[in-house]
Amino acid sequence: MLRKRKMATLIILSTTMLLTTSSANAVLVDSAAFFSGNGLPDSIINNCPYYEDQTAIDWGYSWYGSETRFRYDIIENADIDFYKATSKSEARIRVYASDYGDRVGWWGHTEPHAQDGSSRTEYDAWYYVDILYNDGKMDRENFSSANRLYNTLHEWGHALSLAHQTDDAISVMTQGQGTLTEPAFLDKSNLAYMY
Ligand SMILES: [Zn+2]
Repeated sequence: MLRKRKMATLIILSTTMLLTTSSANAVLVDSAAFFSGNGLPDSIINNCPYYEDQTAIDWGYSWYGSETRFRYDIIENADIDFYKATSKSEARIRVYASDYGDRVGWWGHTEPHAQDGSSRTEYDAWYYVDILYNDGKMDRENFSSANRLYNTLHEWGHALSLAHQTDDAISVMTQGQGTLTEPAFLDKSNLAYMY
């Protein structure tokens, strides 16, 4: 069954590529959609403890967070589950909000770490990730609640090891002020491939 579905995906993709030879921006599928270090271990993504800092609650990001976790949780054929950690140190995804200013250039940011707190890159395996919401910048740029949810889905997508998609893709992983309020077909299919 799985093999058949993958075959169908491949055929559709190659057809698309034939039709759009002028475009260099094919969308990223399967392993190409993920950071090469594969982020947090699969076994963690299957049952992932998260921690919501008081700042995320105070700045209004609890609803966006729970909506985001729910949207990833219900993806068919992807074993993604979250539960509230009893402590910050137990959590593998840790969420904060603040006004980080405009000069940082981001509305949201995902920072991977090793267990001792040192920084990791997309090429490494990770122990935990910090997600930062730049509420101040979003406010100043008049983000709608759809824009904020897109931003939350995008950062949690990084925490699930998804890399940026090409600008042509319909995906929560394209960069910019998006309005998708749930993972797109492409995101779901990539996450089902990985998890
Ligand atoms: Zn990003």
